[in-house]
Amino acid sequence: ISNDDVIEDHQITVCVRKRPLNKKESNRKELDVVTVPNKDNVLVHEPKTKVDLTKYLDNQNFRFDYSFDENSTNEMVYRYTAKPLVETIFDRGMATCFAYGQTGSGKTHTMGGDFAARGQQDCSKGIYALAARDVFKFMSRPEFNKDIIVCCSFFEIYSGKVFDLLNKKIKLRVLEDGKQQVQVVGLQEAQVHNVDDVLSLIQHGNAVRTSGQTSANQHSSRSHAVFQIILRKKISKKLHGKFSLIDLAGNERGKDTHSANRQTRMEGAEINKSLLALKECIRSLGNKGAHVPFRASKLTQVLRDSFIGDKAKTCMIATISPGMQSCEHLLISLLSVVRVKEL
Ligand code: ADP
Ligand code: MG
Repeated sequence: ISNDDVIEDHQITVCVRKRPLNKKESNRKELDVVTVPNKDNVLVHEPKTKVDLTKYLDNQNFRFDYSFDENSTNEMVYRYTAKPLVETIFDRGMATCFAYGQTGSGKTHTMGGDFAARGQQDCSKGIYALAARDVFKFMSRPEFNKDIIVCCSFFEIYSGKVFDLLNKKIKLRVLEDGKQQVQVVGLQEAQVHNVDDVLSLIQHGNAVRTSGQTSANQHSSRSHAVFQIILRKKISKKLHGKFSLIDLAGNERGKDTHSANRQTRMEGAEINKSLLALKECIRSLGNKGAHVPFRASKLTQVLRDSFIGDKAKTCMIATISPGMQSCEHLLISLLSVVRVKEL
């Protein structure tokens, strides 16, 4: 993708990001089965036989709004996905950006920056932080800096329950009032004054998220993390606009249905339910009069605002691992992402 490509004005943007093969995969001499020939397409070279994989490759082409190859940076991905939506929230809209993909494909790397890597705590290059940076750029304009404040919340949805990552991981209730307004009761909203404030909240929330877990990825692969940048009127505290940035649970949960462990099966079922509900809700975006099945899962329920109104905009970043081992899952995953846009 080059710098002169036009950024089109979509209500839903769907893109794919391929990560490079990692050391382990290279050492195993895994084949890279994905090529990104241009900014719109992703080619998957599906092995035809399990015997000699290199000889029989079948090409399957998928088309997206944008596709990013293994050399792309978070900054580039951000530019074509979440960045155009910053304006939306200053224009009283609701913006949402999802990272969707298999565990290990790069969701947290894309959204959170490199705190995925052990011992490293640099979240300044993730989409959470890049979006916050641009929010403060807007805030420096005189028309906004007088009467708008910026707040952040950060929570996790695990097995259909909401936990506050900015408040000791306490469990929160979700209530819907008579006017269908959904509220996460008691959710911490911290006011932020600059990007550094935001960075320390992200680091804090992430540390809380992974604390007490033997492996960071084990737990985070089973939960959705929701980071929100909220604009409010200074005096009345009325909502002006909201940007929800979401690191979704791994979409590989199909295999959990056969697990011997009851909790694993339940978690898997809950994740499948929420990802399905999410895709249905996104599809109903911009489709006037369409039924938005937001009650189908806790995730879509708390994001209800993101799916209604003319000013709701969404982008989905599907992250993919290019290794041959993931090929079958990859094809299913890409197909389901492409379908999000087929109204
Ligand atoms: P997920 O959150 O989808 O489970 P992660 O973001 O934790 O996956 O990524 C898994 C590993 O791959 C991490 O070590 C991460 O740093 C690395 N990784 C992911 N995406 C990229 C990328 N685009 N470039 C380089 N390394 C990446
Ligand atoms: Mg992750």
